[in-house]
Amino acid sequence: GGTVRFEDVRFSYDPEREILKGVSFEVPAGRTVAIVGPSGAGKSTISRLLYRFYDINAGRILVDGQDVREVTQASLRAAIGMVPQDTVLFNDTLGYNIRYGRTGASDEEVARAAELAQIDGFVRRTPKGYATEVGERGLKLSGGEKQRVAIARTILKDPTILILDEATSALDSHTEREIQDALERVSRGRTTLVIAHRLSTVVGADEIIVLEHGRIAERGTHNQLMDRQ
Ligand code: ADP
Ligand code: ADP
Repeated sequence: GGTVRFEDVRFSYDPEREILKGVSFEVPAGRTVAIVGPSGAGKSTISRLLYRFYDINAGRILVDGQDVREVTQASLRAAIGMVPQDTVLFNDTLGYNIRYGRTGASDEEVARAAELAQIDGFVRRTPKGYATEVGERGLKLSGGEKQRVAIARTILKDPTILILDEATSALDSHTEREIQDALERVSRGRTTLVIAHRLSTVVGADEIIVLEHGRIAERGTHNQLMDRQ
């Protein structure tokens, strides 16, 4: 499961200014669709609407054929994992930060998620597990390391649908490549919506949607879009 469908979605934060002006697309279960376009086009808004941070003004958003307004917020948010642009970590242990979103996870599950996200490269496990403090009281993490924590958190949550919102945009190119590899492993087999500002980071997507001023300007595979230029 996990098919996501936007049908002629219209949305505005303020009544005077429409942000999405009739957006339709589908992410088939297990596939990856990327949304690219200039800053301010409405890309992040699409991810917030799927997560139901806001309700739309017109159209429909469906997950496996069901209108998201008819699903409980809790079950929708359990099905969707988001790796945001800028991960905010709690001033607590690394283990707490990884567990956030699925507090009942066992130590073994946390360790496996941390391993998959390659967290062991920058933090040593203590006998108590990932007890290292992050935040101002302890360990200072770089942008790439924080992204790995966000990825481990998402692996642990095991969502059907994954939203990657410019997840590598704040990183240097070497770190970006490494995180991209980790994200590819996490997204395999999951319905994935990637928000990106550069075509070069979404070459492998099944479909790329170019959003401009709240409308779909172009769509196709990476090769199709390059051929048209
Ligand atoms: P993108 O992700 O493509 O850069 P966004 O979806 O973040 O674009 O934003 C689209 C437009 O909506 C922008 O003009 C932005 O200023 C506006 N916007 C974003 N969030 C809010 C908000 N919470 N309230 C009002 N306007 C917003
Ligand atoms: P829950 O519904 O389980 O309490 P949250 O809504 O707090 O979860 O957040 C779930 C995920 O969405 C987290 O990864 C968090 O970083 C991200 N997130 C929360 N609020 C926003 C937001 N306004 N914009 C983008 N991402 C967000």
